[in-house]
Amino acid sequence: MTKRILPNCARCPVEACVLPIKVNDELSIEKAPNFCPMKVMPDVIERALLEYDRPEIKELARQASIQEFECYEHLPEGIRTKNPRILELIEFAHKCGYSRLGLAFCGGLSNEARLLTDILENNGFEVASIMCKAGAVPKERIGIRPDEKIAGPEHWETMCNPIMQAEVLNAEKVDLAIMLGLCIGHDTLFIKYCRVPMTVIAVKDRVTGHNPLAALYLANSPYYGRLMTRTKQASGP
Ligand code: SF4
Repeated sequence: MTKRILPNCARCPVEACVLPIKVNDELSIEKAPNFCPMKVMPDVIERALLEYDRPEIKELARQASIQEFECYEHLPEGIRTKNPRILELIEFAHKCGYSRLGLAFCGGLSNEARLLTDILENNGFEVASIMCKAGAVPKERIGIRPDEKIAGPEHWETMCNPIMQAEVLNAEKVDLAIMLGLCIGHDTLFIKYCRVPMTVIAVKDRVTGHNPLAALYLANSPYYGRLMTRTKQASGP
């Protein structure tokens, strides 16, 4: 049986999809590698493109692209970046005509949630916010054992409840849900159940100031070099 080729843009040596050509030049994918998704699954790419024909999707994509453009400035010395993500969030939400925002945040980032709410309200938005522990459901409800509680077996521990967070923001019919620092896995559930447009302002990373890429940038150094160690799972049985 022939092995299916996985799309693998991360290992692409040419990036033929973004070659610096002029607007009227023809873009060729001839030099793209065999694992290029444009070669492996052109039908999927074609189908995805059709989604942009839906007017509301096209408009969202258009505004996102304009937002991307506006995050650079063209100076005599060249192009440089200018906006932090929080500013981008505000500008993008205004562009899309959103007025009611929903903040789904982790209890470990309550201060950040308050700050962000202040900033968003100061910029004219109405903000509904919901912390992960709302509902006050004990962890036993999802089968957590006493020895799996962070504070210890004898303590009550409220479970994170991302499905509830998503449903509260769905019920409030917010124009845009914003995820702030949800744990890995809890964010997966939030995204699965969130039925309004959604974006992320920060993801949880307890040891890098919520900047997971910091560990990545150190992966080729002695400090987090262990991340590059090939594991038993990668070597197979
Ligand atoms: S789409 Fe094709 S050419 Fe572009 S980065 Fe991916 S593999 Fe490379």
